Amino acid sequence: MNVETDKKSGYVFKAPRGTEDVLPGNWDLWKKLEEAGRQEFELCGYYEIRTPVFEDTRLFVRSIGEATDIVEKEMYTFSDSEDSSITLRPENTAPVMRAYLEYELHKTKKFQKYYYIGPQFRKERPQAGRLRQFHQMGIEAVGANDPLLDVETIGVAVRIFERIGLKGYNVKINSIGCNECRPVFRNIIKDILCERETALCELCQSRLHRNVFRILDCKNEKCKEVTHQLPPVNDYLCEECRIHANSVREALVGIGIPYIADAHLVRGLDYYTKTVFEITHSSLGARDAICAGGRYDNLIADMGGPSIGAVGFAIGMEATILAMQNVLNKKKQPVHLEINEPAPTVYIVSIDKEIKKHCFYLLNLLRKSGISADLDYEGRSPKAQMRVANKLGVKYVLVLGPDELERGNVKVKIMETGEEVIVRQDEILNWFLQKR
Ligand SMILES: [Zn+2]
Ligand SMILES: [Zn+2]
Repeated sequence: MNVETDKKSGYVFKAPRGTEDVLPGNWDLWKKLEEAGRQEFELCGYYEIRTPVFEDTRLFVRSIGEATDIVEKEMYTFSDSEDSSITLRPENTAPVMRAYLEYELHKTKKFQKYYYIGPQFRKERPQAGRLRQFHQMGIEAVGANDPLLDVETIGVAVRIFERIGLKGYNVKINSIGCNECRPVFRNIIKDILCERETALCELCQSRLHRNVFRILDCKNEKCKEVTHQLPPVNDYLCEECRIHANSVREALVGIGIPYIADAHLVRGLDYYTKTVFEITHSSLGARDAICAGGRYDNLIADMGGPSIGAVGFAIGMEATILAMQNVLNKKKQPVHLEINEPAPTVYIVSIDKEIKKHCFYLLNLLRKSGISADLDYEGRSPKAQMRVANKLGVKYVLVLGPDELERGNVKVKIMETGEEVIVRQDEILNWFLQKR
């Protein structure tokens, strides 16, 4: 791109629609959430995995399912050579399973637990807390069918929200059955819905023959009225699924996690089986999920791997941060151009340009020992440098003038008391270490 031309045309570069910059002044809630996530994941034995942001398109079509909103209209798909089609990942479960199979990790150890934190991409209509490049942190526990594992993952998510002090969330759970019982239930609701086809929204009428479960998820009032009269899926679960669902509910009660059994909860991805759950936040309006997950016992086998169960979730980081802001101050946080990071401990004031080299040497000496220090890079006068130090609120100011330099000394001003002491340059490090 020709920069000159852009200057002439007067075009001002902006972040693409549906993306957001996180400026240093807005970083605190992100940091809080990410740190809480890492601490909780690692406490529970999950290890970090990082997969590429793009994958072979077929991976997502196969795993998420062709008749889903994501695959039908939300993926960023393009080719990077004549015979390839790649897609920016719209979610991270399929990539993690792809890595699990590619490295045959099930042969090393069948049961493994992973976590990830990173950007995902979906071409959706942007709105508050819902972006086209958004961030998720999530876990996948692979290689076990124990219902307690489903409860472990819900517990991990709940404790992350506890760690960040988020109040006002709800845990909603449901079971959507397995390959045995789900087709039976699918046919029953399909028959009922076909009779009431005209009462559904246009989109759901088309869904009726492609992916009937998506209708249960529709936010349209007309559709809600119809779907709320449908029999609950629980009535049609097979014996195995019923026992699994009961064990999950019992264990949630056992560890004191309140939940809402929501018979209409389905997830927009095809790979889920048995347990599905969502954690929602009351402050977020219609699209209120801050975490979504469930069990996916067929995905690995569908991808050509062994038949083993797995369960996981993803926390939507933008949605969670929006909920945190809503709880904190009831309105969207403005963009903070000021940075609220802690001030350095030491500021070094240089009396002239020549002496600055020595100041720079001292700066690096302090930093190497883990003492946070800074100096002026903008050519300020000594007086102006002192003003900066005052404004920053540093604890100590080091002043280096011709006298101090000649004698191998440095002047230390203790800002709290205003006291000034002369310290030998080769002793300065020890002087600070003793102050700690
Ligand atoms: Zn079943
Ligand atoms: Zn609808």
